[in-house]
Amino acid sequence: MNRISHWIDGKVVEGTSGRSGVVWDPATGTQQAAVDLASVAEVDHAVAVAKAAFPAWRATNLSRRAEVMFHMRELVDANRKEIASLISKEHGKVLGDALGEVARGLENIEFACGIPNLLKGGYSEQASTGIDVYSIKQPLGVVSGITPFNFPGMVPMWMFANALACGNTFILKPSEKDPSTSMLIGELLKQAGLPDGCFNVVNGDKVAVDRLLDHPDVAAISFVGSTPIAKYIYETGTRNGKRVQALGGAKNHMLVLPDADLDMAADAAVSAAYGSAGERCMAISVVLASEAIADSLVAKIKDRIPAIKVGPASESESEMGPLITGEHRDKVAGYIAGAAGEGATLVVDGRQGAPGGGFFLMPSLIDNAKPGMACYDDEIFGPVLTVTRISGYQEGLQLINDNPYGNGTAIFTRDGGAARQFEFDVQVGMVGVNVPVPVPVSYYSFGGWKASLFGDTHMYGPEGVNFYTKTKVVTSRWPDPRTSSVDLGFPQNR
Ligand code: NAD
Repeated sequence: MNRISHWIDGKVVEGTSGRSGVVWDPATGTQQAAVDLASVAEVDHAVAVAKAAFPAWRATNLSRRAEVMFHMRELVDANRKEIASLISKEHGKVLGDALGEVARGLENIEFACGIPNLLKGGYSEQASTGIDVYSIKQPLGVVSGITPFNFPGMVPMWMFANALACGNTFILKPSEKDPSTSMLIGELLKQAGLPDGCFNVVNGDKVAVDRLLDHPDVAAISFVGSTPIAKYIYETGTRNGKRVQALGGAKNHMLVLPDADLDMAADAAVSAAYGSAGERCMAISVVLASEAIADSLVAKIKDRIPAIKVGPASESESEMGPLITGEHRDKVAGYIAGAAGEGATLVVDGRQGAPGGGFFLMPSLIDNAKPGMACYDDEIFGPVLTVTRISGYQEGLQLINDNPYGNGTAIFTRDGGAARQFEFDVQVGMVGVNVPVPVPVSYYSFGGWKASLFGDTHMYGPEGVNFYTKTKVVTSRWPDPRTSSVDLGFPQNR
């Protein structure tokens, strides 16, 4: 049985806890590896290594840190296929989708190559006579990233690129369901010239996470995962005095106005709902269809579903892979089974016709979903698209703003005024105008509102740089024999 251990101090370190987790092959439903689950002592060792590496890395000049990021950029670019294959193998998503994930992750390494520019502070000459004031951004120390199963390459890249470039050292605790990509990232960072100990991977479960949350030498935690765990991480981490950004789950609505191009809207809904088997935090899970066009839109979505090729990533024609585990597949199937009993209409039942063996489900379409039904209220995180019929813009907006989540949303319309009003009104962090999956480019920042994010800073981009640095303001005066005198008054501008 293939065994996945930890990456600490620039090398693979075998676990000693005696505990391990199952890494499934979602396409066959069989176990493909066992992953070591770290003990408290193993986490402590990784943190001690990262702490020891911090002073030298922090003192490494900006050009050199940028150079490591440039090398890493080249290595990830050269190894796109290998990284994507590893993602597909453990996650199950098809190769084209995994390549997209690598490309969007790589953007964040490219952004971090500009770290000398990003860390420039402000300078005010002559703030007072003979006194200059300037601000500098300094790293926090040992920081940690805890990541979900659904983007085993991209989400770690959201975090470590900026964290390391800012001068921190890093402990990554990836999802125990697909941990191998993180181990490869460790090897690539070493090849890129990152000193040993600056980037470490601790594989594990709640035991490892809880130790990171209460370890006094961990200064900050970036988390991405489900809302209940995000809330727990935020509350526990901040109570322990850490800086925390914790991104949670989602229920993303796509509002389709009567004037929208319905073929474009149907293509977008199908792509955004069923891509990656719906296991994306930015997937569209609800279409809000204005009554005037709802029948037509539902028919267009239904017509497109049979053409989706569901199969393993190993088959090049596959467009949608399996779900991550059998347990998760059964949970998603439960929502489909329950929909009709709740009063919704099951238009396409994805429990029929899935390939055998793995954790597959076919795409499902549920019409007439409403608040109060589990298929509408819960984050299903599978290939299930629900449609809610609305009277028009105002009702659609109200539903989105009443939803506890606020990660992503999209409006489909030809009316620029309506789209602009939507941008202004909607209580959601990332908004698409005729764009169904509006994941911001790396030089903006990623984050939802409401129960989709706990903390003040969004992930990556300029807010990522702020998250991983502390600002220090220096007020400086050099001796000038012409102005020196004793003055017991409170310093003020002169
Ligand atoms: P998850 O919350 O189950 O796990 C995320 C991480 O937390 C993993 O590393 C896991 O080991 C750890 N964890 C799980 N249970 C824990 C516990 N009780 N105590 C401490 N740590 C624990 O999430 P997942 O199933 O891996 O990922 C899917 C979820 O992530 C979905 O809800 C999805 O919307 C969300 N997600 C959000 C974003 C975003 O940017 N907002 C991006 C990707 C995924």
